[in-house]
Amino acid sequence: MGIEVIKNPETMREKIQRARSEKHLIGLVPTMGFFHEGHLELMRRAREDCDVVVVSLFVNPTQFGVGEDFDDYPRDFERDRVLAEKEGVDYLFAPDVSDMYPEGFSTYVEVKGLSEVMCGIARPGHFRGVATVVTKLFNIIPAHKAYFGQKDAQQLAIIRRMVTDLNIPVEIVSVPTVRESDGLAMSSRNIYLDSEERKAATVLYRALKRAAEMIDAGERDASVLKEKMKELVSTEPLVSLEYIEICDNIYLKPLQELSGELLVAIAARVGRARLIDNMLFDLG
Ligand code: AMP
Repeated sequence: MGIEVIKNPETMREKIQRARSEKHLIGLVPTMGFFHEGHLELMRRAREDCDVVVVSLFVNPTQFGVGEDFDDYPRDFERDRVLAEKEGVDYLFAPDVSDMYPEGFSTYVEVKGLSEVMCGIARPGHFRGVATVVTKLFNIIPAHKAYFGQKDAQQLAIIRRMVTDLNIPVEIVSVPTVRESDGLAMSSRNIYLDSEERKAATVLYRALKRAAEMIDAGERDASVLKEKMKELVSTEPLVSLEYIEICDNIYLKPLQELSGELLVAIAARVGRARLIDNMLFDLG
């Protein structure tokens, strides 16, 4: 059976409720489309684990700030549909903005604290939009498991918090970051980079690798690591660093001395693109 495209939230919910009543295990992969290997990897994981796989494709206006790239965000529905079908996805949920945010819409989900650090500083309101749309998706598509990329580590921490705090009955599965052969994390926004910027953009991964090498060699001082990473990033004039953060992976609290499960995260502007990347470490 091929992939079925559904736009209407009620129709989508009815399909999933029927599948659930037949005891099928449901997997959801939320996306904004313009698929790359990162998205496809999430779909593969869902396909391996679940009986019914739903991919949502919705460029969510409430997570874009004023002056951000909502209008320009890359879109190619037909290509995405074919790619998802090849991965054996059962349903592609692709609502219109008016289906998700009809007139009078006025309810938002806010995950305090976690949403105001790191990317939340340059993108106020972004994670409120994410938490709101993901809550809506969980209600429209009552899945047993939902798949998110480790590439968006802060988003993942926020969604885990939200699911715990609001008792949402879904298991959050994280999928490791898929990279280009030179280490650049795959992102729909990489299309904004020209060839010089594309080369320079690998410095995010190179800086994370430098940190990983230093951590392997026993460095535990976050300021030393950040300083070395900054030095490396500054060798690329096309890259304007936004932040480097070293924090725990649950509360996103900055660490001075590295221990436990921690995140080294970086964000930078390269030309028109705002890029993020991170690595997870478990120091026991
Ligand atoms: P997006 O369409 O950018 O909102 O991403 C949809 C999902 O794909 C999110 O859970 C992302 O974290 C995940 N994702 C995006 N890029 C990657 C990547 N390079 N590797 C793994 N997952 C990714």
